[in-house]
This record gives sequence, C-alpha cells and structure tokens, in this order.
Amino acid sequence: MHRTEITAEIVRLADMMLTLGLDAETIAERLGITAYVVRVMAGDRCRIGRRSRPQLFAKGMVNPRRAVDATTIRMIQRMLDVGILRRGEVAREAGVSRSIVEQVASGRREAVSTARPPLCRGEHFVRKPIRCEQCRAMISIVPCRACHARDATAQESAGR
Ligand SMILES: [Zn+2]
Repeated sequence: MHRTEITAEIVRLADMMLTLGLDAETIAERLGITAYVVRVMAGDRCRIGRRSRPQLFAKGMVNPRRAVDATTIRMIQRMLDVGILRRGEVAREAGVSRSIVEQVASGRREAVSTARPPLCRGEHFVRKPIRCEQCRAMISIVPCRACHARDATAQESAGR
C-alpha cells in the first residue's frame, strides 16, 4: 500500500478534517496515511469517530452563553487555529453566534472543562509558533506532532 510521507502539510490537513468532524478512517483514506497516525495526530482522542457536529440549540432558541460547551469552544479554537475559515464561517460550522467566535478569538472565552484536554501528555502549546528542529515546520504544539506521528509510524511498522 502506498504510504504518504507525513509532512506538516499532511498534519495540517488532517487537523482541519478532524476539526470538520470527519472520522479517523475517512481522513486516513483521503490522505493515504493510516488511521492510527490520524489518531496520534488528533491528540484529543475523545473526538475521534464522531461524525456529526453537536446540535446545540434548535432554530430560534439560541442561548449561547449557557449552551456552548467546552468541546464546542475547543472546536471553534481549532478552526480559528487552522485559519482557513473566516469567523462568520466558523460560527456557522460550529452552530454558534458570531459573537461567541469573536470571544474565543480574543481569548475572552476559553474551554474550561474537566474532560480530557486537547493536548496529549507531555505536550504543551507555545504562544508564538516556533520552528521544529527536526522537520523545520512551524509548530505551536511542542513536541512536534508531525515528527511524533512519523516516529509512531516507524515504530508501528517495526513492531509487525
Ligand atoms: Zn517536526
């Protein structure tokens, strides 16, 4: 089977697809990588496999302050981080008002939850993206997920 090299671009695309709610198998198939690698990249394993976006409120019953949960805030944060969608589009995708997206973007609203954080053990965010010493990609999660996924792939194939 053809295996795509796991570049920063592949990680970015996988992250974007995860943000949009695609499951690991679908993403793996589209990108030519294994679902295992997608799960490694995802970090937040709780969200894997959920196909549909949360339906937070019925039309005409918007009560954002109460209804927006930590998972949705994280999803908004991820969409903003990926940077391909405008804020209005993020709001539409997440099913929240534009003002919620503005609050997340400005840091006035953060995902506070006792649920699993979006980072894996040993990972942390850096405020300003830095260059990975190994693959030279700009990263905001340390250590580099692309390099970690590559290492995991190597270990996976070595273990067979
Ligand atoms: Zn790297």
